[in-house]
Amino acid sequence: MAPSGPSSVKRRCRRCLYWIPVLFISIIVCWSYYAYVIQLCIVSMENIGEKVLCLIAYHFFVLLFVWSYWKTIFTLSMNPTKEFHLSYADKELLEREPRGESQQEVLRRLAKDLPVYTRTMSGAIRYCDRCQLVKPDRCHHCSVCDKCILKMDHHCPWVNNCVGFSNYKFFLLFLAYSLLYCLFIVATDLQYFIKFWTNGLPDTQAKFHIMFLFFAAAMFSVSLSSLFGYHCWLVCKNRSTLEAFRAPVFRHGTDKSGFSLGFDKNLRQIFGDEKKYWLLPIFTSQGDGCSFPTCLVNQDPEQASTPTGAIVTAKSIENHPFPAKPLRESQSHLLTDSQSWTEINGSSEKGKLGFEHQELCVRKKSCTHWLYISIKVDTNTGSCTDSFSS
Ligand SMILES: [Zn+2]
Ligand SMILES: [Zn+2]
Repeated sequence: MAPSGPSSVKRRCRRCLYWIPVLFISIIVCWSYYAYVIQLCIVSMENIGEKVLCLIAYHFFVLLFVWSYWKTIFTLSMNPTKEFHLSYADKELLEREPRGESQQEVLRRLAKDLPVYTRTMSGAIRYCDRCQLVKPDRCHHCSVCDKCILKMDHHCPWVNNCVGFSNYKFFLLFLAYSLLYCLFIVATDLQYFIKFWTNGLPDTQAKFHIMFLFFAAAMFSVSLSSLFGYHCWLVCKNRSTLEAFRAPVFRHGTDKSGFSLGFDKNLRQIFGDEKKYWLLPIFTSQGDGCSFPTCLVNQDPEQASTPTGAIVTAKSIENHPFPAKPLRESQSHLLTDSQSWTEINGSSEKGKLGFEHQELCVRKKSCTHWLYISIKVDTNTGSCTDSFSS
């Protein structure tokens, strides 16, 4: 049975209040439909060809706009899968341990089989006290939704939903189509707006709808274009809004471009591989939202090169606290080199949570530098995350 009492009533009231911005937008859209279709097209346009063309184009834009807005609002946010949640025994163990290093020791053991590469600012495992789970990379706890959201971008009051992995594509399309919708209204309403000020319109209520419609569409166009432009930049850089404000922390330190794989791959991560679905609010984003590819390759050969002749074992690397540095895949010559490789040391380990963890040390036949490769494969979904260091 649902809990009752003053706190639950307060929570329900708060939930109702959260819908006010959505209601506000919906009323404006409904009014704009009436103002454009009835007052502008049907009442004020005299040319039949212009009337038909505007009505067809308008309905095309409004359909895509409302569809993407609907999907952004009503797509449930995705939360971390059960692998990231602590078992009852682990929760008890964690509660027994004093806060600090010993708790971190428990969390480090739990996170070992998980595809988790980011850390807190202090280098600790990211853990949500509220949801009692190890946070996957790019996942954050939303205080409004009161749960952890995969690849959380931000909580948007205008859609009363968290924008994250499950609906980020829809949110982008919503911004794009609402901007197009406003620009279309501005472009087709402009001549009637000028007529309003030059007394070229008949003295009916239609002229006021036409004037306010132009003002509202122009005002929203300005704010939407700046927001849409900002999100386009974020997509190119493969950053969420939260990551743009605070760069993700990897084992070697912060790296604001840690998840960036180059423009084309960044785009495909959100819109998918099939271009025919890119412009439709249908979920086509790549991945599972829990793990994200980031090529971890050493950037500074001076600092981390292995002394000639020394054999680095998988075990000794495992004990190294900061074994890898992220590097964009597109920048890595190591990944595209077709020269042969010599395997020196390898180990494979099946994690209890369905993650197969493989580690091996290889080097180019002509080269003295060793490359350490760690691959975690989710045997349930087939998704794979890898890391490299030399
Ligand atoms: Zn949480
Ligand atoms: Zn939220």
